[in-house]
Parts: sequence; structure tokens; C-alpha cells
Amino acid sequence: MSHRLPDRVVIVTGGARGIGAAYVRALHAEGARVVVADLLVDEGSALAAELGERARFEPLDVTDADAWERVVAATVRAWGTVDVLVNNAGIANAGPLEHYTRAKWDAVIAVNLTGTFLGCQAVVPTMRAAGRGSIVNISSVEGLFGSEGLHGYVAAKFGVRGLTKSIAVELGRAGIRANSVHPGWIDTAMTAKIDPSRLPIPLGRGGTPDDLAGTVVFLASDDSAYLTGAELVVDGGMTAGVGH
Ligand code: NDP
Repeated sequence: MSHRLPDRVVIVTGGARGIGAAYVRALHAEGARVVVADLLVDEGSALAAELGERARFEPLDVTDADAWERVVAATVRAWGTVDVLVNNAGIANAGPLEHYTRAKWDAVIAVNLTGTFLGCQAVVPTMRAAGRGSIVNISSVEGLFGSEGLHGYVAAKFGVRGLTKSIAVELGRAGIRANSVHPGWIDTAMTAKIDPSRLPIPLGRGGTPDDLAGTVVFLASDDSAYLTGAELVVDGGMTAGVGH
């Protein structure tokens, strides 16, 4: 069977668990060489060890520019280049506006938005030198509309969507594509407190990490060669409109 990502070098942030781990598995299954980059050393190392030869773990706090430099340098040393970056690491926090502390705001902006910015900055020189690259930034349906209590998260995910478009515009001629993915309700630790049957999802169920993985593989691969600056909404139709 032919693979869609033969030997492509991919970095997935927050790849140790949750949705990120599903991306890692799917990309690896398509022949990619995958760097699991995460704060979680034990889980990330175990996943890389389980996948074997074409997988590596690198410790990474996405808010740390120096750590990004180390991860990119180690990847280039090991595998020669970086073809794809999946900026998936994210955190969420909530609270009414009057009680939404500065610390909450700073934390969610730092990981979701600044972390994505730093990742893009870190990989672009390598991608530019290679004349090709695909950046996949994980936003959310909350990067498309507001959500009660999720002020910093919504602002960060809107920011990721805008950042992705500005990168697409600036770097298209360098052969670098950038697209954002906007998942709806997906079954993970982050959404454990929300019952999907209460949400207006036309497909009638919440999503799973595997429901997103095909979209990320598509954006990483040459199947999406003419797609840049796009926002792919993967939400079971939740944002398509209102039913009766
Ligand atoms: P999880 O919390 O399950 O996993 C996120 C991963 O990112 C964890 O391994 C986490 O490690 C890691 N991480 C957190 N902070 C950092 C950091 N500073 N540096 C490096 N890694 C970090 O989240 P999900 O899998 O649910 O979400 C993944 C992405 O998908 C996020 O961007 C999220 O916003 C987005 N998303 C999720 C939806 C959902 O329904 N779950 C819906 C829409 C979007 P640790 O455990 O140590 O914090």
C-alpha cells in the first residue's frame, strides 16, 4: 500500500496524549517520521517508543522560544529537515469576565496563541531553505464564534486563525502553506464536562480524535497542495446552521 507521507518529517506539539496522539499515530501510519513534542515526558517517550524507528520524542514547552530552537535543531540533525508542523498543544480555562483573572488570560494566550506563533517562527527558516512546508494550526470552532466564559481561549483561537492566514499570504511564494483546523466537540479530557447530546450537532454525535486525524493528514500531504490560508471546520455540522 502506498503511503501519503513517505518519510515526511512532521512535528506535532501536544502529541503525547489526547487529540495530538491521534495525529501522531495517523501521520506515522501514512509513512511520516514524527516528532512527538510535549511537556509530558513519560507519555511522549512511551508513544514514540511504541511507534518505533520513525518516531522521536522531544520535550517542549511551546511558550519557550529556546526550547523550540532546540527541538527544530534536533529534528534537523536527526532527519535533515522539517516538512510539516502541527501546532496542536492547547489549554482551556473558563470563568465569567469579571472573575477571569489576568493569570488565566496570560496562560491561555501563551500556550494557544504565542506557542503557535513561536512554532511557526522556529520552523520557517528550515522550510524556506527546502522550498516547501505545511503548517497546520489547530484552532477550534471557538475561533469562529464567541463562547460564554471562554474569553481567553476564544481570543487565542481567533488569533490562531488570523495568524494562519497572514502566514499563508506571506510565505506562499516560498512554498510554505498554512491552514487552520477548527474542531467542534471532541471526546477528550478538555471536554469531559460537556455532554455532546446537548449540543446541536447535525451528525448526531460528538467527535473523536480519529475524526480529526484524516483532515490533518490531508493538510500535511500533497493532496492539499493548492490549499493555503483555509480554515477547515470539523464539527459534525455544528456550525453549519440552525435546525428546526
Ligand atoms: P489535551 O489537554 O487532552 O492535550 C493537550 C496536550 O498539549 C497535552 O499533552 C498537554 O500536556 C500539551 N500541552 C499543554 N500545554 C503545553 C505546552 N505549554 N507545551 C507543550 N505541550 C503542552 O487537549 P486536546 O487533545 O483536547 O486538545 C488538543 C488541541 O485541540 C488544543 O489546541 C485544543 O484547543 C484543540 N481543540 C480541542 C477540542 C476538544 O473538543 N477537545 C475542540 C476544539 C479544539 P499537559 O497534559 O502536560 O498539559
